[in-house]
Amino acid sequence: MFIKKQSYYHLISKPIIGKEEIDAVVRVLRSGTVAQGPEVGQLEKSFCELTGRKYAVAMNSGTAVIHAALYGLGIGQGDEVICPPFTFVATANAVLMAGATPVFCDINQDDYMINPKMIEAKITEKTKAIIAVSLYGQVFRYDEIKKIADTYNLKIIEDAAQSIGATYKGIPSGGLGDVGTFSLYATKNIHCAEGGILVTDDEECYEKAKMIRHHGQSEKTRYEYHDLGYNYRLTDIHAAIANQQMKKLDWVCKKRQENANLYNSGLADLYPIIQTPYLHEGNMHVYHQYVIKILSQDGYSRDGLMQYLKDLNIGCGVYYPKPLHLHPHFSRIGYSKGDFPVSEQASQEVLSLPVHPLLSSDDIFFIISAIKSYVNKH
Ligand SMILES: *Cc1c(COP(=O)(O)O)cnc(C)c1O
Repeated sequence: MFIKKQSYYHLISKPIIGKEEIDAVVRVLRSGTVAQGPEVGQLEKSFCELTGRKYAVAMNSGTAVIHAALYGLGIGQGDEVICPPFTFVATANAVLMAGATPVFCDINQDDYMINPKMIEAKITEKTKAIIAVSLYGQVFRYDEIKKIADTYNLKIIEDAAQSIGATYKGIPSGGLGDVGTFSLYATKNIHCAEGGILVTDDEECYEKAKMIRHHGQSEKTRYEYHDLGYNYRLTDIHAAIANQQMKKLDWVCKKRQENANLYNSGLADLYPIIQTPYLHEGNMHVYHQYVIKILSQDGYSRDGLMQYLKDLNIGCGVYYPKPLHLHPHFSRIGYSKGDFPVSEQASQEVLSLPVHPLLSSDDIFFIISAIKSYVNKH
């Protein structure tokens, strides 16, 4: 790959688009098969290999595949799905799209992911599934959640939009639970501008996911509509980009981990004002986001540091500034401020630093020294 030596510290994320992707798109355009075709088939095959799953279904967004996962598992009207409020909105929107009700469950202080100890209290007769999010690129406490799911006969959907390439005790992210869903949106670790992939070993879910993707038709009987369906198809133009990106996945993961390790050692002596990401033993984290926590005390604050970095033209961001239960279309369900204190606090304390593969070590050292000078100023 040819990467010009230049600074990238001002960008929180940067989609990688190389000659390989451009050539692949041109090839597809010249072939004349531009809608769902062989590139999509190849992409689905690669995702089966990556995750060790039997089936994969490519669609045009990460949101679509979560919707399809719920539909594929038979979840809809009258059902409840437990998920964290501290995630990207699509996780819970997909539950509403499926006609079911999202039931929020607060998160852990350490890894910001759904707190397995709080799940049981949320379970009712209507509960059908848990959507756990592998937030920032690290898999959640799967074993604990699996135990609860088995006890109460619930399905597990892994929202792996941020964790492609990560592993949990050696198992690939997306290969856990009943269904795994990925996003290939432009800012994700690998991308094709817009896209999503569902993976599962459940044949019925696989067949239903293909139907909802294609207007409710099965492949065998066209123009027979078995149910309300959507147009969630991915084009071969997009899939061609994704197929090239798959070849870069190992490199992307390795670069992000190297960048994260530079931060980890560079920021270590700022503890406890600045806290580096919690890493579970046995997990391989792929750092979709490198998220630090800033204690709000002695004049330090997340917003203070963020402004300080922005003034130096350092790209940084807050994922997520407001938990989902405080947005109108979820608070309408009956949630209000104070319901999920850990999520609410996290939204005040987290800050994402640039960690994408195009950053040089000098970029990272510059960002580290900026953070040090903020801390030492006080
Ligand atoms: C990006 C993302 C999605 C949605 O993916 P889109 O491709 O943007 O629809 C869902 N869940 C999480 C956690 C995400 O980060």
